[in-house]
Amino acid sequence: MKYDVIIVGAGPGGIFSAYELTKLNDKLKIAIFEAGNPLEKRKCPIDGVKVKNCIKCPSCAIMNGFGGAGAFSDGKYNITNQFGGSLYEYIGKNEAIDLMKYVDDINLQYGGKGTKLYSTADTKIKKMCLENGLHLLDAQVRHLGTDINYVVLGNLYNHLKDRVEFFFRTPVEKVEKNEDGYTIVTADNRYECEKCIISVGRSGSKWMETVCADLDIPTKSNRVDIGVRVELPAEIFSALTDELYESKIVYRTEKFEDLVRTFCMNPHGAVVNENTNGIVTVNGHSYEDPEKHTDNTNFALLVSKHFSEPFKDSNGYGESIARLSNMLGGGVIVQRFGDLVRGRRSNPERIREGYVTPTLAATPGDLSLVIPKRILDGIIEMIYALDKICPGTANDDTLLYGVEVKFYNMEVEIDNNLETRNKGLFVIGDGSGVTHSLSHASASGVYVARYIAGAN
Ligand SMILES: Cc1cc2nc3c(=O)[nH]c(=O)nc-3n(C[C@H](O)[C@H](O)[C@H](O)COP(=O)(O)OP(=O)(O)OC[C@H]3O[C@@H](n4cnc5c(N)ncnc54)[C@H](O)[C@@H]3O)c2cc1C
Repeated sequence: MKYDVIIVGAGPGGIFSAYELTKLNDKLKIAIFEAGNPLEKRKCPIDGVKVKNCIKCPSCAIMNGFGGAGAFSDGKYNITNQFGGSLYEYIGKNEAIDLMKYVDDINLQYGGKGTKLYSTADTKIKKMCLENGLHLLDAQVRHLGTDINYVVLGNLYNHLKDRVEFFFRTPVEKVEKNEDGYTIVTADNRYECEKCIISVGRSGSKWMETVCADLDIPTKSNRVDIGVRVELPAEIFSALTDELYESKIVYRTEKFEDLVRTFCMNPHGAVVNENTNGIVTVNGHSYEDPEKHTDNTNFALLVSKHFSEPFKDSNGYGESIARLSNMLGGGVIVQRFGDLVRGRRSNPERIREGYVTPTLAATPGDLSLVIPKRILDGIIEMIYALDKICPGTANDDTLLYGVEVKFYNMEVEIDNNLETRNKGLFVIGDGSGVTHSLSHASASGVYVARYIAGAN
């Protein structure tokens, strides 16, 4: 029951810390505690036939288990400091990029070979965006696709399973400080370790807050991003997606000077439900395999909300908006852009008669009853701005799903080694509030592992 290192959470952050620790020192006794299931047992019951909507399983197969929230994601590993987190503020820009490239190499070795790396370098799209008040952010993106991402995770698990002790379906309830390190408390047992790495992602955000309160670790309120997922015929966005696959474009609205940005673009992809702490929001992904392609492309349009004193609960604000959509639609709401700008709800007939076939069975409704006016106005303005570079974006039949909410964890106070004020206790990945992506979360895992193994 005594380990050198215990890792809490088997998402990309936890997996890559384990990978690097075992590589650098095969004598270390390491355990990983994961609230969810092993990869092969992760199965979301929504089949579109018998189960159409989220039934709120105790452990969400999409968010929890080996691979973390990223297991059924699109597997887009963005190599950039311009978005995806602020890891570079802790470890430096060059180190952050080097680690993201290192993670990319490992993904290729473990099954990702042959997948495409896209880049914004030298693209003419940048100029076209600038001419229309839009700003394209710089990045390289490796698109593994949901299918290859799954293969890579399977191979990483096979590599790790004999080197690390895995405890699945074992949520950690408490982390206690003791004389020599930490005690990890689960429902049935207590485990000791010298060093503890916490990598619990967004789904562990509430639990992370309790750990910080118990161990007197300061936290800061973070932001919340609120918006919609747009779905349209893939041809409309092909000028961007054929060359860049994913483009992160930012627009400053004329009316309020708010920033609206594209997020998580999925050419020929599908829109999906996401369940965070029992609240159903929307997300998207796509497969690398052309046989699994749909006719549509989807992406999110998001507006960040930061709050100042006295209000601190940015996630609570996002949750309330998502709850409202769940209350009105029983889950995610879908609306035609034409209906939204005409101030009327979409109904099943209007959706059926439209030329864009939804890839998610959402409830037709009215997003203006859910999303605050200022945010919705910004989204509508950006759709018209995107229409200038991708004509057809503002077509009546373009579908908007809501709400998409990106919850960010409270930012945990950690130093440049990603260590809390309690020596030997590290907080990494999305659970730290510092990263918000596969590549940054994975890179933070490698970084901490090297520090613990004395290789940094
Ligand atoms: C549908 C979807 C698509 C996405 N697509 C992309 C994409 O294409 N590109 C991108 O960069 N990002 C994407 N993301 C975000 C990305 O998945 C996350 O940024 C990334 O997984 C964060 O990694 P992590 O290790 O920090 O946390 P997570 O992946 O969330 O892993 C945390 C793990 O900790 C476990 N856990 C939580 N609490 C406890 C506890 N108390 N005890 C034990 N275990 C616990 C959870 O079960 C989970 O498995 C997507 C997310 C979703 C949901």
